[in-house]
Amino acid sequence: MQLGSGFGHMPSRNYLNRKIETATFKEIQELQEAKLARQLDYLLSRSLFYREKFQAAGIRRRDFRRLKDVARFPLTTKEELRESQAAAPPLGKHIACRLEDVIRVHSSTGTTGRPSFIGLTRRDARMWTALTARSFYTQGVRKTDIVIHAAGLTLFVGGLPAKDAIESLGAMFVPIGTGASEKALMAIQLLGATAMHCTPSYATYFAEWVRRQAHLEPRALGLKKFFCGGEPGAGIPAVRTKLQEDWGARVTEGLGNADMAPIIFSECPQQSGMHGNGQEYVLVEIIDPETEEALPIERGVSGELVYTSLERECVPLLRFRTRDRVTVLDTSCPCGRTSFKLRCIGRTDDMLIVLGVNVFPSAVRDVVSSFHPRTTGEIQIILEQPGPKVAPPLKVVAECGGEGGDWNALKTEIEREIKAVLTVSASVDLVAAGTLPRHEMKGQLLKRAYESRAAG
Ligand SMILES: [Zn+2]
Repeated sequence: MQLGSGFGHMPSRNYLNRKIETATFKEIQELQEAKLARQLDYLLSRSLFYREKFQAAGIRRRDFRRLKDVARFPLTTKEELRESQAAAPPLGKHIACRLEDVIRVHSSTGTTGRPSFIGLTRRDARMWTALTARSFYTQGVRKTDIVIHAAGLTLFVGGLPAKDAIESLGAMFVPIGTGASEKALMAIQLLGATAMHCTPSYATYFAEWVRRQAHLEPRALGLKKFFCGGEPGAGIPAVRTKLQEDWGARVTEGLGNADMAPIIFSECPQQSGMHGNGQEYVLVEIIDPETEEALPIERGVSGELVYTSLERECVPLLRFRTRDRVTVLDTSCPCGRTSFKLRCIGRTDDMLIVLGVNVFPSAVRDVVSSFHPRTTGEIQIILEQPGPKVAPPLKVVAECGGEGGDWNALKTEIEREIKAVLTVSASVDLVAAGTLPRHEMKGQLLKRAYESRAAG
């Protein structure tokens, strides 16, 4: 069995690469062990960044013998990559190939203004295409699909790499981009599109837009598959149910990381969590974000995702902290894929702490959405002071659905449910449907009231 040759297999019915996707735990471990050993050799010979880092941590190449030894190596943070880029422009001390071998750059959407670049060699780009294509295939993209890409197209890692991946599957890629609902609608109607790739916020926004502007029911457009990503949402049961009802389509989600690969995890049609799709390209660990200890990958385990690249030339990253908080949902699946399944509950940056309890804004939305159709599912959490610590009660604004009914009773019920599910007390303000701002790209679940006060 040639596990290593992950690219170029003819698609079978359920899997793009049956050997990898259905390999046993032991087979994957052996493959990853061999590949990581080679990647470490490469790092030591090519990466000044990691040579210095290993030296500082007092760790040597020979400390890696078995796969589990990876936990002895230091973690890499986004801050380090930013500093490295500032210290050694244009791409940073952490790039491990010659600049002339870089064929494309992407950048991550930083909050600090300065873009953080990610370079790809030809081989890196091929690997991204293979991994992203497999993730889309897991979600159900097939040759016969006509896929509307209603997400970023330019520097965004979910843009051109998604094009490369979808085209490599033989499906039709329709590059619409963002902020172009009229074009998207026209393309869907004229081309008879079957699928859409977008954020869950856009899928929600576009359904409302189609009703309001085109006076059509979204499901009348005939889209059958939604591939969502870029933020948590499509995996939240109540959000997914509403989207599926609106569109009459199957909604699945994917998860990637700008610094590692566009899509690494994605849901199969079972819709019960995202499978890891690139075991021969990316080693996945889950760590306790406070103690930084590696956690066992078992059902119910929650922690921060950490990625190690296994065959990367330009930006080989070792134990990269994603700041994504995930929960392992299962380690087996009726689809036959052997990789474990997870759901992303949010980013560490968005996490709030109420009397010592960690609360992710998406979890609050999950609770409020479960009252649909009495609520629309749109919420905003009002922060009076900079987080992450918030004094109780958590202030939540939620939209009522179009159903009318007793708002006071609904308010009490939602507050009770938040307390029961998230174990924090909340004070819920209800507003009419359509009151809260809509976001085409990514939802903004937090409103930092102190910022507008400072600005005004
Ligand atoms: Zn599955």
